Amino acid sequence: MNNIIDGKLASKVLKYNIRKEIEALNIKPKLVVIQVGDNKASNIYIKNKRLACEMVGIDFELIKFNDTISEELVIKEIKRLNDEKEVNGVLVQLPLPNNFNVAKVINTIKPTKDVDGLTYENVGNLVLENECLVSCTPSGVLELLKMYNVKLEGKNVCIVGRSNLVGKPLIQLFLKQNATVSVCHSKSLDIKNYTRLADVLVVAAGHTNLITKDMVKNGAVVIDVGINKENDVLCGDVDFKEVSKKASLITPVPGGVGPMTIACLLKNVVKAYKIQN
Ligand code: NAP
Repeated sequence: MNNIIDGKLASKVLKYNIRKEIEALNIKPKLVVIQVGDNKASNIYIKNKRLACEMVGIDFELIKFNDTISEELVIKEIKRLNDEKEVNGVLVQLPLPNNFNVAKVINTIKPTKDVDGLTYENVGNLVLENECLVSCTPSGVLELLKMYNVKLEGKNVCIVGRSNLVGKPLIQLFLKQNATVSVCHSKSLDIKNYTRLADVLVVAAGHTNLITKDMVKNGAVVIDVGINKENDVLCGDVDFKEVSKKASLITPVPGGVGPMTIACLLKNVVKAYKIQN
């Protein structure tokens, strides 16, 4: 039996559906990405976002500033974009230079244009289960589980990692699906006491081979969000070779959650368009 979740295929399906929706609505949503500096990894992420936007019919614009620009000028630019009717999504590519107040910059984005779902308003609305724009990687995890028909109600879900970007939004998304959620972090004692109980185990810690076979329940669904580099090879947080023998479904790295993140960004741009119109 093939128990490997194909994130590339799932993201293709999602992008196809987004393109069809954009065509059916006869709209031209627009995403603007703001980049400060010339971080190599950011350049690649932005290029991928541009390609994905073009693929589904979303207008894409990159506003790239030299890293000597002041925080005030970046904030001024975000405010200008907030007021531009034809701009539906505004995304500030992280990381920003060290001298920037990241929270201040992000929270300048109008919540209805915050397609990364990082403003305080969107985070608060997620907790309160109000309609909002949700952070893309956690949304991608839930989309994958939905596409593979994984039922969550009443299930034990264990999340390893509690970052604002991944772990914390996942808690809310799983609670909303009526799962029972436990969360482990770097101060948790003996995380296998929790991971072993999980019907669905999601790992987002950023440590190669953190999750080994003995830490996983037979038949569990294992979602590996981690992206690490070992001797120039990409890998996740899960010992894929061994754990895949025990899991009923498992994501590979690369090719699992990663492709879903961009697909969910596109979904958020269309959602933002709808909220604004
Ligand atoms: P992060 O901000 O560094 O958070 C890591 C979390 O893992 C923290 O909550 C930390 O606990 C916890 N942790 C670290 N070591 C641990 C251990 N030994 N046992 C249990 N918990 C531990 O990272 P992030 O932004 O959430 O990203 C996590 C991973 O996902 C990274 O590899 C990142 O590259 C990847 N990622 C992938 C995508 C994608 O699209 N696939 C998107 C975003 C991130 P404390 O809170 O106690 O420090």
